[in-house]
Amino acid sequence: MRGTNAIIDLDAIGHNLKVFRGVVGPAVALMAVVKAGAYGHGAIEVARAAVGYGADWLGVATAEEGTELRMAGIEVPILVLGASNADQVRLALAQEIDVTVFERFSWEAIKSEAHRQGIKPRVHLKVDTGMGRVGVHPSEVVSYWIPQLTRGDVIWPGLMSHLAESDADDPAFTRRQLTRFLDVIEQIRLSGTPLPPTIHLANSAAALRYPGTHFNLVRIGIGLYGAEPYPGATGLKPAMRLESRVTMVKRLEPGDSVGYGRTYVLDKPASIATVAVGYADGYRRALSNRAFVLIRGRRCPVVGRISMDQATVQVPDDLAVQAGDRVILLGCDGDAKVAVEEWAEWAGTISYEVLTGISPRVPRRYLASRGDA
Ligand SMILES: *Cc1c(COP(=O)(O)O)cnc(C)c1O
Repeated sequence: MRGTNAIIDLDAIGHNLKVFRGVVGPAVALMAVVKAGAYGHGAIEVARAAVGYGADWLGVATAEEGTELRMAGIEVPILVLGASNADQVRLALAQEIDVTVFERFSWEAIKSEAHRQGIKPRVHLKVDTGMGRVGVHPSEVVSYWIPQLTRGDVIWPGLMSHLAESDADDPAFTRRQLTRFLDVIEQIRLSGTPLPPTIHLANSAAALRYPGTHFNLVRIGIGLYGAEPYPGATGLKPAMRLESRVTMVKRLEPGDSVGYGRTYVLDKPASIATVAVGYADGYRRALSNRAFVLIRGRRCPVVGRISMDQATVQVPDDLAVQAGDRVILLGCDGDAKVAVEEWAEWAGTISYEVLTGISPRVPRRYLASRGDA
């Protein structure tokens, strides 16, 4: 075993779900968003744990992701948050997975496939209230979409939108999106059409900060995994620890350099430890000469370029390190910690990309439940 593993604490997922349950109360459904392999944590394992801890819905990006969960025997409602083409609609219908509709072309595919199978599709209508990405224009909801969705051969379980800036300090744009969403709801009411049973707008950040966005379901992604949904959010437990091993320790002299391109040159003698992780594992090259790792509870700087399968760190003079020592790339070691937000900043990205970027080469190992989430 190479010793480079992502250790997933499913009780942390349970803890985080409880935090969201506490914030939204008992009447609002919780959707655990497990797209992209549960943000790199493992879709099936996280989905099972989340359902066990009280998630009412699961959110995925594609019909394929939803099918994987159904094949694992998961029976709670699943919603495909992204686009579905005709092939994907076929899968979704076969697995009783809800799909999102946000434009007319795929809607035609959904209708014709459903008709062919003699099945009523379950569709959530997504309205663009300001994300400027996918979603139908608010002005088309009553004129075009309501007649489509209230036909007898369709089931319309949900109306939704998505927020662009709920993690920002300034609430102005979130308020504007909420106002537009409420206006759509009001237009539907005025048209005399009953609202669908599920109305949803909030992601993790909005669920924590803006109670007015809860409606009757919130979609929890990043917060489920314990990363901060907005800067400074507290109370969530990170679910992933990433660890590796020291493969070699060597002594270098002043003037010696480390790694490709010789980007780090020693000005005094130092011990350099090589670690069994590289950019092919998701330990991105942008972390070169920027990141820190934890060895024996101490922060050690990554020096030189990160290569495909290896990284190099400088060992503090007063720390004894040897081949085989554990290296924490993400997570805690005693009182020392590398947070995903810190890593994201070193790499010039966001926690979402760090977590989903941990590559399939890194085995995911699951801590047995302690039952104390
Ligand atoms: C991914 C996703 C979410 C989850 O967002 P987080 O910020 O990770 O909580 C919610 N809604 C939709 C439509 C998504 O695609």
